[in-house]
Amino acid sequence: LFAAVEMAPRDPILGLNEQFNADPNPAKVNLGVGVYFDANGKLPLLRCVAQAEAAMQADPKARGYLPIDGIAAYDKAVQGLVFGADSAVLQAKRVATVQAIGGTGGLKIGADFLKRLNPDAQVLISDPSWENHRALFSNAGFQVGSYPYYDAAKLGINFDGMLASLNTATAGTVIVLHACCHNPTGYDLSPAQWEQVVATVKARQLVPFLDMAYQGFGEGIAEDGAVIQQFLAAGLDFFVSTSFSKSFSLYGERVGALSVVCASAEEAGRVLSQLKIVIRTNYSNPPTHGAQVVALVLGTPALRQLWEEELAGMRLRIRAMRSALVEALKTAGVDQDLSFVTRQKGMFSYSGLNAAQMQRLRSEFGVYGVDSGRICVAALNEQNLPQVAQAMAAVMRG
Ligand code: PMP
Repeated sequence: LFAAVEMAPRDPILGLNEQFNADPNPAKVNLGVGVYFDANGKLPLLRCVAQAEAAMQADPKARGYLPIDGIAAYDKAVQGLVFGADSAVLQAKRVATVQAIGGTGGLKIGADFLKRLNPDAQVLISDPSWENHRALFSNAGFQVGSYPYYDAAKLGINFDGMLASLNTATAGTVIVLHACCHNPTGYDLSPAQWEQVVATVKARQLVPFLDMAYQGFGEGIAEDGAVIQQFLAAGLDFFVSTSFSKSFSLYGERVGALSVVCASAEEAGRVLSQLKIVIRTNYSNPPTHGAQVVALVLGTPALRQLWEEELAGMRLRIRAMRSALVEALKTAGVDQDLSFVTRQKGMFSYSGLNAAQMQRLRSEFGVYGVDSGRICVAALNEQNLPQVAQAMAAVMRG
């Protein structure tokens, strides 16, 4: 039966992890991962999460099946976070939101729904993008192309190229956009650039799909969500996937959502019914624990305040590490302008290093990043920073 099955290619980042684990260098540093570590290099358990779980354990409940679209209080909390609790679009009940298995699950539900809705549509992702975007939309049956995004020579965004690409896309093309904290580059559009993207998407009748996996990691919860308000203000229908993997440090609980902004409450009702079919025929209904934790934290004022403080703590620590990296590189003798590192947002930095330099970082210094030049700034700390900076400076000097 399986004689003709071919070996699938390995996930490149997981391959990097295996290489890291096998490296005997005691001073090795893993900056390849997409995970936030605290100042001690540990994956944090947020206090708001621990307190919510303690409250849940004090009043244990049986685990029945959830509704297909998940915990109602959770979906409502997601909507408040993404669109603003008092927003007109929520008051008009124009948004269909479903709980999903992580941000990945939200993207997948959206992709499957779009395939039923508009089977011949093209999908465009940023070049480069989170690698799973391409695989996920391809596996849903779409042709996936890309729009220019990163400009290596400029160490920034090729915004003209991006706009030109959107301007030639045919009506109905699905445009996957990173709402904030672009993975892998760390470069985000400015509000003025977003305004141009919104206008182009509207004029060309494109279908925006915003992937928001890092809300709160860039500038703040509302600030990172401001792009959603720009799409709302233009009167567009659009998709938003949400992930709480990073913002709650709940990676393994798989907590996410998909929201679809529709023209009317009646339309949102029909869209919701179709999203439920997608879920029902894939995994029937979502799991309880993680979404219950998030719903409890977001719905309890004291816990929510604690979460906002802890999220701000993660955000500020990443920013401090960006500045510290730039300073340490300067001290180590790198004289090129590195201000781009502190302009970037979120967990990642496109360091500007090429594949050969990234390989030298690994083999000579035990510093593991992705060959594209991506390093996870959220894995830097006071202990590993001097070594990382020395290693980077050495390969930058050539
Ligand atoms: N989108 C982007 C841009 C991401 O970086 C990630 C996580 N690496 C996801 C979606 C998926 O998030 P989750 O782990 O919640 O499925």
